[in-house]
Amino acid sequence: MKIKAAYQSYFSAPVKGRYVVLEDVLPLIKNNSEVVVHKTGISEKGKEIPVLKIGKGSKKALAWSQMHGNESTTTKAVIDFLQFLNQKDVFQKEKKRFLNSYTLYLIPILNPDGAEAYTRENANNIDLNRDAHNRTQQESKLLYDLFTEVKPDLCLNLHDQRTIYGLENKQPATVSFLAPSADTNRTVTATRKTAMKEIVKMHRALKEHIPCQIGRYDDSFNINCVGDSFTAAGVPTLLFEAGHYQNDYQREKTREFIFYALVELFGIGTFYNEQSVDYLEYFNIPENKKNFRDIILRDVYLEKEQRTVSVAIQYQEILTNGKIHFIPVIEAIDEVTDCNGHKELSANGNVILVNSHENFRKGEKVLTIHYKNNGKEIIFQ
Ligand SMILES: [Zn+2]
Repeated sequence: MKIKAAYQSYFSAPVKGRYVVLEDVLPLIKNNSEVVVHKTGISEKGKEIPVLKIGKGSKKALAWSQMHGNESTTTKAVIDFLQFLNQKDVFQKEKKRFLNSYTLYLIPILNPDGAEAYTRENANNIDLNRDAHNRTQQESKLLYDLFTEVKPDLCLNLHDQRTIYGLENKQPATVSFLAPSADTNRTVTATRKTAMKEIVKMHRALKEHIPCQIGRYDDSFNINCVGDSFTAAGVPTLLFEAGHYQNDYQREKTREFIFYALVELFGIGTFYNEQSVDYLEYFNIPENKKNFRDIILRDVYLEKEQRTVSVAIQYQEILTNGKIHFIPVIEAIDEVTDCNGHKELSANGNVILVNSHENFRKGEKVLTIHYKNNGKEIIFQ
C-alpha cells in the first residue's frame, strides 16, 4: 500500500472530471523532464497528436488512450503516471529500473477531435476501434505507422466502459481487462499467454483495492478492432476498460485504480520473476456482464395495464459549456429483472407520475418522479 500513500499524498491530479481535451494535457508534457515528444501526428480536423517517449530500455511498449474521444479515465491515469515518474519520492529506485528497462511510446489522446466534441467517434464519425484493418482515418494511420516503426513488445489499448457492465456478484466492473483473441477460435496463442500474464500481475495488485470489482472482457474476435489486429500480428496487447465505481461518475477513483495497474505492469509496484506468474490465473477473473443500469425504480404499478414493473433509468452524458452533464433518461420499463441499479429505489407498488404524467415512455428525459396518490416526490438522483 506504499503506492497508495504516494498517490494520495505526493502529487495532485492536474486534470479532473470526464471532459479531457488535448489542451489539458499539453502543458503537463512540457513540464515533465522524463518525457520527450517522439513525433507529432495530425488528426482529421488538423489537430496535433503528440506521441511521447519515456525511458530508454530495450523492452518497447506502445500505449494509446482516448481512441474513443469520450473515454478519458485512462488518459487521466497515464497523466498521473507521468507525474509520478517526474517527482521525487520513495520509488526513485523502482522508477529508474523502469526507465532503464522500458521505452514507452505513449499517445495520451489518439482522437483529439472526438475528445473535444465528447464523442466516441472521430471527426468523420468513424469508430477508430473498427478501423484497424482498413485504416481509412489519419488517427488509425498514425497508430499503425507507429506500430510498424516501433515494433513493440507490448501494447496497451486504453478505454472506458459504460456503467452497464458488472459482475455475477452484483458489483460493478470497475476495471476490466482483456487479452484479445487472434482468431475466431479464440486460440490461446503464445502471444495471448504473454498478455494474460501481464494482466494477472495487474489483477493481483488491484485485488487489494477492489477485490470483487475486476472483470474480464468478452474475447470474441474482430479483425477491425485494434487489439485483435495487433494480437493477430503477434504482439501481446492488453485492453484496459475503466468502469464505474460506487458513486464515482467523474471516475476519479477508477483513474486511481488504472494508475495502480500501470505501476504494477511496469514493475514499479511489485517486481515479478516471470516464472512466478501463471497465465491460467487470468481465467479466474470473472467475465463481465451487462447487468447494471444507473437507476432502477422497482415495484411501480401501471394502472392501465394492471401490472407491476421496474423502470430503468440510464444517464446520457451531454457536453455543455465545457462540462459533462448527466441527463437521466428512461431506458426500459419492465425489462430489467436481471439487472442491478447503481441506485436502487422502490415505489412500493404505487402508481407514479414521471414529469407529472402517468404515460411515461422509453427515451423520455426524467425531470421529476412523484407518487400519484399523495403527490410526494421520489428523489431518484
Ligand atoms: Zn473504447
